[in-house]
Amino acid sequence: MRLSRYFLPVLKENPAEAQIVSHRLMLRAGMIKQSSAGIYSWLPMGFKVLKNIENIVHEEQIRAGHIPMLMPTLQSADLWRESGRYDDYGEEMLRISDRHGRDMLYGPTNEELITDIFRSHVSSYKSLPLTLYHIQWKFRDEIRPRFGVMRGREFYMKDGYNFDIDKDSALHAYNRHMVSYLRTYERMGLQAIPMRADSGPIGGDNTHEFLVLADTGESEVFYDSAITDLSLGERVVDYDDREECAAIVKEWTTPYARTDETHDAGVFAQIPEGRRKTSRGIEVGQIFYFGTKYSEPMGATVVTETGESVPVHMGSHGIGVSRLLGAIIEASHDDNGIIWPEGVTPFHAGIVNLKQGDAAADAACEDLYKALVGRGLEPLYDDRSERAGAKFATMDLIGVPWRLTVGPRGLKNGVVELTSRRTGESEELSPEIAVARLAEIYARPAS
Ligand code: ATP
Ligand code: MG
Repeated sequence: MRLSRYFLPVLKENPAEAQIVSHRLMLRAGMIKQSSAGIYSWLPMGFKVLKNIENIVHEEQIRAGHIPMLMPTLQSADLWRESGRYDDYGEEMLRISDRHGRDMLYGPTNEELITDIFRSHVSSYKSLPLTLYHIQWKFRDEIRPRFGVMRGREFYMKDGYNFDIDKDSALHAYNRHMVSYLRTYERMGLQAIPMRADSGPIGGDNTHEFLVLADTGESEVFYDSAITDLSLGERVVDYDDREECAAIVKEWTTPYARTDETHDAGVFAQIPEGRRKTSRGIEVGQIFYFGTKYSEPMGATVVTETGESVPVHMGSHGIGVSRLLGAIIEASHDDNGIIWPEGVTPFHAGIVNLKQGDAAADAACEDLYKALVGRGLEPLYDDRSERAGAKFATMDLIGVPWRLTVGPRGLKNGVVELTSRRTGESEELSPEIAVARLAEIYARPAS
């Protein structure tokens, strides 16, 4: 992309309405525009990051054996009456009536809809296990939408639902989700800690929330710092292997980590003092096992091998896809702007031409651009006739992790400069080596 042709409406001033850094930077970097309270348009660069995050979520869900589909945003109230949640859900549910006076709602979540699909098509144990998921807009009429996309009213969520023959299989699905979520967040450059949580209106007794530590988080969290040393790294996981998944879950759930809802001061006090941490956290996902809470009232049953009819065991599993943009920025920024982790960055490298109109500099930038594209990378070329300082400031603000600076002086020596946004360190390299270096940085191990 050439900046002169892109739509990147950056703001010079700090927007007064933004209370936290991620909201401020998303507005300043021209990623979102509020359309009404808690509802946003996703401008091109914000949309690009949203899609990158969504793609990682899809890849990791599919890797875990979960099946993508798409359910609508508008749902009929009748299904929610069957589960009893039409009345229980309260004012967060946006209720609508259509021209025939039928009660509809904008889905805050999809347990009822998916259970209805399941009961219409599945009747035998032979179809199990089954995990279906989608990534779709949700609406919750939050009383206090705030912090930009962190607590929106309309937000983008991955929600998945597992259907299993018995509790053991459903707990394997729970474990599988925990492992796949750990990998998902790691790929985004985030550490999200699974913490024992409270089940809230969705119900059930087995649930973990995934929290990114940040001062601006809305939850109070208590944890043993040993948990922050854990990582999946390059481990290859067989998601069908119950023991392997259970062992990883055990590894992550043994150190104390809880939200204020489940915090137990007595147990916490037993952790060695130096490792006892209290902090704030941003909830970026949650997994639940809730047994037959929906399958029983809604009649989602299967016939077992012995001919018995039993309600299926279910769980639901959510990732806050749009909230993740805010969480990533809270975790990765400095005074100059965003610092995108390589896994989600909207552009792989920025090209800054120090002297637009200089024949040699222009030609070198064009060559770099083509070479990067040839390596499957997407550069953002600042080809505007701006001062170098303004170009650097824009690249820093929008968070491109690597910058190539091209100027007539360096070119005389056959070099361009490659700068890391995170460390600020620069290296002078030949254009060919700079391109090879970037290709190497972005090469992910095939899995
Ligand atoms: P919260 O406690 O933050 O209100 P929740 O527990 O009600 O969230 P879940 O039903 O667990 O939310 O939804 C799954 C994920 O969707 C959450 O972990 C969170 O990341 C995201 N999410 C929930 N509500 C919002 C919102 N209003 N705006 C943006 N993301 C949200
Ligand atoms: Mg939750």
